[in-house]
Amino acid sequence: MYRTNTCGELRLSDTNQKVVLSGWVQKARKFGGMIFVDLRDRYGITQLVFNQDINAQLCEKAEKLGREWVIQVEGTVAERSNKNPNIPTGDIEIIVSELTVLNVSETPPFTIENETDGGDDLRMKYRYLDLRRTPVRSNLELRHQMTFATRTYLNERKFMEIETPVLIGSTPEGARDFIVPSRMNPGEFYALPQSPQLFKQLLMVSGFDRYFQIVKCYRDEDLRADRQPEFTQIDCEMSFVEQEDILNLFEGLTRHLFQTIKGIDLPAFPRLSYSEAMKLYGSDKPDTRFGMTFVEIKDLTAGKGFGVFDSAEYVGAICVPGGAAYTRKQLDELTDFVKRPQIGAGGLIYVRYETGGNIKSSVDKFYSPEDLQQWTERAEARPGDLLLILSGKTEKTQKQLSELRLELGARLGLRNKDRFNCLWVIDFPLLEYDEELNRYFAKHHPFTSPKPEDIPLLDTRPGMVRANAYDMVINGVEVGGGSIRIHNSELQKKMFSILGFGEAQAQAQFGFLMNAFKYGAPPHGGIAFGLDRFVSIFAGLDSIRDCIAFPKNNSGRDVMIDAPATVSQEQLDELHLKIELPEE
Ligand code: ASP
Repeated sequence: MYRTNTCGELRLSDTNQKVVLSGWVQKARKFGGMIFVDLRDRYGITQLVFNQDINAQLCEKAEKLGREWVIQVEGTVAERSNKNPNIPTGDIEIIVSELTVLNVSETPPFTIENETDGGDDLRMKYRYLDLRRTPVRSNLELRHQMTFATRTYLNERKFMEIETPVLIGSTPEGARDFIVPSRMNPGEFYALPQSPQLFKQLLMVSGFDRYFQIVKCYRDEDLRADRQPEFTQIDCEMSFVEQEDILNLFEGLTRHLFQTIKGIDLPAFPRLSYSEAMKLYGSDKPDTRFGMTFVEIKDLTAGKGFGVFDSAEYVGAICVPGGAAYTRKQLDELTDFVKRPQIGAGGLIYVRYETGGNIKSSVDKFYSPEDLQQWTERAEARPGDLLLILSGKTEKTQKQLSELRLELGARLGLRNKDRFNCLWVIDFPLLEYDEELNRYFAKHHPFTSPKPEDIPLLDTRPGMVRANAYDMVINGVEVGGGSIRIHNSELQKKMFSILGFGEAQAQAQFGFLMNAFKYGAPPHGGIAFGLDRFVSIFAGLDSIRDCIAFPKNNSGRDVMIDAPATVSQEQLDELHLKIELPEE
């Protein structure tokens, strides 16, 4: 028997028990005639003691132990004189009577403790060692708890988990596909699914009624902290439902997860229309942990000779509580922040509402104190507050103001990771116009249903049509999104034509779906959650990488197994592939 107990289990009440433990040597230290070893396994750390006076031979053996050696010990549980309140086993130690070395280890390339000296690259290269560290392992434990609780919740509500294929066909909409050459069909390619969207809709046509799958999805996009080339969705679809049914059921799932895993009871999720979200926050995924919502002041600024505002389509302000005390340097920093190319504002105007009641601004030349007072009144500013103002084209400026709002929220410590503000953003536009390509794209995806009352607008003002589409947002992160689908083949055909697909192309790409819809498709809809993002929010992580066992780096590489990599000429020949690399 390798062990009677785990390294996280023994307590004061176990004193005097004979036990056997196995695990890894986290560290060993000598203290007079004693050797103390921290023995670690997945469940925790237990202190072992070897005493020179009791067993000199054993002590000699223990002295040779190195970091990360795998050992088995037999001994007796004893109360510790020097207790460690930071770990659950901190009241006891094991007086060792027998030691077996199960395996030796080379010195690990970084220390395997909560705080490590290993840089990111090194830890990724030796990810299997990094995963021994408690903070990393506990993220994966949390992930497991969340998927397990999700499966239970959905199973109790009659959802069936059904696997859909990973080798499918490439579709032109959405992100870039990863493609896989087919050996048996020379010159032809599979694509990896960006999501099981079409399959889950077909499962509804098949009558499965409630489907879910915790499933890998693949998108060949540029990577960021919240994006990986392969990521996991909690993917769901339901028949005979309206938007309201889906919002209720999945708000329920989210509350269930917060309740069972974090012990937090969330209030009902507020709902915000897309247009309100843009107007108030300049974002369709607003961080609602703090206020500082936008105030439009274009009408109050016009006609006073300030050309920048006069020529702007939009003039918007945010009110920074206590911001009047900002120094010149702090204001310059904020100006530099909005002028960075990623944000692209031309400049930043400020109005200081000083605690004494005076109002001073960077545009005093054009506006009287009375003018400025109107602005502060509209923004409900109080003495001591600061207005920050951006102007320009509406959408662009709202986006810039949104970035500024988030930056200030962070600076003011208002984006507390222990607070969770969830909401639904609803009534998304169905279509989005791409000025460069001169065509409409589906804002969500081409299978999303327009709101029935907006269908007549499809022919006249397609840009105005709203969709039965919704996103769940937590703390400024889009954790889930979905829609009620089109279930009528004629409407689906029309949607493809608005998206610029010729009849033949639509038939070639999506013919199977339109055909399926001819055989009694039920009304249906669904949603998908990004599991990685969901877990990172629960764990308060900055990057989704930290809750993925074996993630890719920002160049899409797995540095541990060194992939992607070249393949042999034979493999390429078999696939009829010729590789021509661009000259350096
Ligand atoms: N398949 C969609 C997505 O990946 C989600 C959905 O509409 O259910 O975003």
